[in-house]
Amino acid sequence: MCGFAGEGAPAGADDLINQFQWAMGRSSPEVSVVKIYTSGSFLDPDEMPVQARDEILRRLQALGISRLVIESRPEYITAQSVEACLSHLPTEFAIGLESSNDLIREKAIRKGFSLQDFVAASEQVHRQGGRIKAYILLKPPLLTEGQAMRDAIATGLAAHTHADVLSLNLCNVQRNTVVERMWQRGEFRPPWLWSALEVLKSVPGPIVCDPVGAGTRRGPHNCGACDESIASAIRDHALSQDVGPLKSLDCSCKAAWRELMELEEGAFGAVLL
Ligand SMILES: [Zn+2]
Repeated sequence: MCGFAGEGAPAGADDLINQFQWAMGRSSPEVSVVKIYTSGSFLDPDEMPVQARDEILRRLQALGISRLVIESRPEYITAQSVEACLSHLPTEFAIGLESSNDLIREKAIRKGFSLQDFVAASEQVHRQGGRIKAYILLKPPLLTEGQAMRDAIATGLAAHTHADVLSLNLCNVQRNTVVERMWQRGEFRPPWLWSALEVLKSVPGPIVCDPVGAGTRRGPHNCGACDESIASAIRDHALSQDVGPLKSLDCSCKAAWRELMELEEGAFGAVLL
């Protein structure tokens, strides 16, 4: 489902430092939190040479940034790499756990690490005083709507004790991916926003969600009429963490969503879960 593999370009240490400097030059002088989303692993020395990593960390510290957020797969989270970040500034390490179910993560997402790998990385970061963000993927391919929703809820319940914040990512259809081919053949539908709301209401916070591409055919969507208001409520919830306003959302398509889940359950209920 991830199209980033087809979008990267080779970049050396100097290129990466220049990109960082260019982006910082465009930011507000009052900026206090910096997120470096490499769409990969900031702590992987093949993606981010150690020389570039350390220079960027040094510059962030010199700017007086109060918190850094980076992404990494768990195998690059070591005592040394965590210390490299924390010795410069408070850091949140974001890990794409996606699912707490090893079968789904391995067979449907092909992520290549276990729940235990995530837990061990989280414990390492917490021992050294850093923060953990865990990404949860709503609706990888091969799951029905109901299975995907229940898996995201189970993942949130399993991950929240190991993470300082959860981030719910709603699967969208990216170019040149297996999911795009499945979607073109009618074998994949992005998640309903109703399912996302159930996850946000069921998982102890803090949990945030940015419904990227909501309301489009390739993004998470409901019926078209209610997408904008629900996406807006999801964005408000990310800031307020108040589930109250999410409970009052309604639309005639909610019944269709429920019915679809029941029909799929009957047809495919026992495939993976
Ligand atoms: Zn609707």
